[in-house]
Amino acid sequence: MKESIEHKALRERGLRITQPRIVVYRALADVKAPLTAQEIVHSARLVDQATVYRTLELFVEAGIARKVNLQSGLVRYELNSDDHHHLTCTRCERVEDFRGCHVEKISSHALAHSRFFSTITSHSLELFGLCNSCSRT
Ligand SMILES: [Zn+2]
Ligand SMILES: [Zn+2]
Ligand SMILES: [Zn+2]
Repeated sequence: MKESIEHKALRERGLRITQPRIVVYRALADVKAPLTAQEIVHSARLVDQATVYRTLELFVEAGIARKVNLQSGLVRYELNSDDHHHLTCTRCERVEDFRGCHVEKISSHALAHSRFFSTITSHSLELFGLCNSCSRT
């Protein structure tokens, strides 16, 4: 039988496979946006709140998930995947992922014009706007 992605992710980070960990992993994997701990508690109905919080911290320590600190202030979690960024609705704080930030282009432009820097080691970017339902009202 082929190993599921959530089993593989846990095993590769040396974590024991437990039902709550699988449920929390799936909750994170199922969406295309970072979730707050409360949203995960909601979607992982069979797991109690304290376990969800503990599991999220464990995932962050193990490098499976990361905390996303958006300007709205609520800490959100997502799986530690590829380079991507977030669109945030300024009215309802809905968040969505987007890919393709062309960071290489911006970095080389920045370095070419910089007097003091020769390396870029990381970047962050957040776009703000109105989601579809907020722009209708
Ligand atoms: Zn909105
Ligand atoms: Zn994201
Ligand atoms: Zn990027």
